[in-house]
Amino acid sequence: MKKLENLILTYKDFPKKGIDFKDVLEILQYPDIFQELILKMSSNQFLKNAEAIISIDARGFIFGSAVALESSKPMIVARKPGKLPGNILTREYDLEYGKNSLSIQSDALKKFNSFVIVDDLLATGGTVDCVTKLLQDQNKEILGLITVIELKELKGRLKLDFPVHSMVKI
Ligand code: AMP
Repeated sequence: MKKLENLILTYKDFPKKGIDFKDVLEILQYPDIFQELILKMSSNQFLKNAEAIISIDARGFIFGSAVALESSKPMIVARKPGKLPGNILTREYDLEYGKNSLSIQSDALKKFNSFVIVDDLLATGGTVDCVTKLLQDQNKEILGLITVIELKELKGRLKLDFPVHSMVKI
């Protein structure tokens, strides 16, 4: 059986020079490994304690919705600008390569008080920090982050004041 680590492909200088892009999409072609990964991502206490999952655009949706199913938790999404209808809350942040902003539907957010964030990769932590601030501004609690990959050297977890459950540390 192939190992999870071997399915994470690195693309040099994508989408910009100097970035080693870690591609998680190959994992989806191996359902047994994908399933094992989702079971592992779902096995932590802070997820059990959370009322809902918030997953981040776009690869975070793939893993977030699978974790939501496995853990029987409701899921809401944080999306890139211009994608969400209705009343939205938006915040801008710096990315490892550029700037971005994320929006959340405020009516969806109102229904829950404690959240776990799911994304594909933790780099500098700016993305997760943005979602954290969006939620904390609404007096919501974040119990932890679940991510497939953690880029250790960028020390993103030091930006976060909740536990990080990462499956592969590179
Ligand atoms: P950061 O905000 O720096 O922690 O970046 C995390 C977000 O950007 C995640 O949603 C990733 O999908 C994406 N990202 C950042 N750096 C990389 C990378 N080297 N390879 C793949 N995705 C990345």
